[in-house]
Amino acid sequence: MARNIEGFTLWLTGLSGAGKTTIAVALEKELRDRDLYVERLDGDTVRQGLTRDLGFSKEDRDMNIERVTFVAKLLSRNGVAVLASFISPYREARENIRKETTNYIEVFVHAPLDVCADRDVKGLYAKAFAGEIPNFTGVSDPYEAPENPEIVVHTHQETVEESVAKILTYLETHGLIPTQEPVAVPSS
Ligand code: ADP
Repeated sequence: MARNIEGFTLWLTGLSGAGKTTIAVALEKELRDRDLYVERLDGDTVRQGLTRDLGFSKEDRDMNIERVTFVAKLLSRNGVAVLASFISPYREARENIRKETTNYIEVFVHAPLDVCADRDVKGLYAKAFAGEIPNFTGVSDPYEAPENPEIVVHTHQETVEESVAKILTYLETHGLIPTQEPVAVPSS
């Protein structure tokens, strides 16, 4: 039986390759280990299903986020820990998620463009720099960095574990997840 919490929407925004999915996957495991209801929504996965009809124009990106916002709203108001990893480049669209969902927490997953391009996890930056992808965020499309995110993680300077720990501490100190029981060390 999972433990009840109020529910929240932890929204990871940042450039492609910044580390959103990597951090969300690690967080999902941590939260499941704590017996919480968790749902992870990921840009790449959602675009294969719920929003497979959409492209990367501003209108389509806004519609993509609008539909995901609706799902996150339903889940987060029913006690689910929602982990959403989407580039979500537009500030206005993110402000709308804040209004619509329960306990919205914006996480700016930051790494400089050249670091993301060097990682080139999906081989997309090479194509974007070669002019083969017309609407590629950070190269041929805008990314509006968060102005007041609740959390910033610097993935070029921190390990995945450090970023995850920072987020867990935030969730604990804001009462959104139960604090981890300290492991009892038997006294000698
Ligand atoms: P995104 O979801 O933002 O597009 P991914 O998580 O798919 O990014 O890819 C990020 C890549 O960067 C992965 O290959 C990951 O192993 C690597 N990486 C290196 N350091 C970090 C870190 N501190 N945090 C997250 N990812 C990191």
